[in-house]
Amino acid sequence: MFSLRAVSGGYTDRDVIRDISLKVNEGELLGIIGPNGSGKTTLLRMMSGVLKPRCGALTYRGQDIYRMPVRELSRSFAFVPQDTQVNFAFTVWEIVLLGRIPHLGRFAFEGRRDYAVAENALELTETGGLKEKFIDALSGGERQRVIIAKALAQEPRLLFLDEPTAHLDIAHKIRILDLLRRLNRENKVTIVIVLHDLNLAAECCRRIVLLDKGSVYARGQAEEVLTYQNVESVYKTVVVSATNPITKKPYIMLVPGKS
Ligand code: ADP
Repeated sequence: MFSLRAVSGGYTDRDVIRDISLKVNEGELLGIIGPNGSGKTTLLRMMSGVLKPRCGALTYRGQDIYRMPVRELSRSFAFVPQDTQVNFAFTVWEIVLLGRIPHLGRFAFEGRRDYAVAENALELTETGGLKEKFIDALSGGERQRVIIAKALAQEPRLLFLDEPTAHLDIAHKIRILDLLRRLNRENKVTIVIVLHDLNLAAECCRRIVLLDKGSVYARGQAEEVLTYQNVESVYKTVVVSATNPITKKPYIMLVPGKS
């Protein structure tokens, strides 16, 4: 569905991403992990059409994404950034309706279908009760769900999320990840997600890409990627890898004082 071939690039002075080739399959929930500064956000920005790489090819259903019209791109992709702070006094309903913009005709107002899609996005993210509230009056977890609702209102085929659980407590983290898993499973949205937390990535993602210094260090299922050897080598810290007794996924534990 989506592929990167020998992609390198970054910002003006140097390459942050180095020679990455990667495929995202239809219906997949792919996690990107790696230490701070390893290029996770930069890679996600390249994949979502925001930051053009210096070289290499990014294709979506065979089309070069940097040659696709912006409107078509934003009908296919939605991006949930790390910082979802909104500094305008918009209501939740207004924010979610903004997600319909790529689908509206020129100068056209929203129609019945747009309202129905926006309502459905509120329902899926359990934010219907917040509809009339102002976005700047919400808690971090609520705001995060509203921004995901806006992305869903775009009806994307591919949803990119950059650390959507970064500022949330564990209960809210799990709630967001359960929501994403449900969207992936039931609504067939393909998801690429950057996660900081290795254990959440192990639980939530079917396939994981571990980045180190802008390149792919390991890729595969959680148990193939989250070995203590891989984690120690990339994060330069001593860890123990165990198995979550309920889910049977790998679980990384820190060992303080051993780095
Ligand atoms: P991660 O998401 O893994 O923490 P990033 O992709 O944010 O990593 O950053 C990778 C590298 O790119 C870092 O060294 C960072 O300083 C640099 N970088 C990030 N954003 C910019 C920018 N807008 N301009 C220049 N360099 C940047």
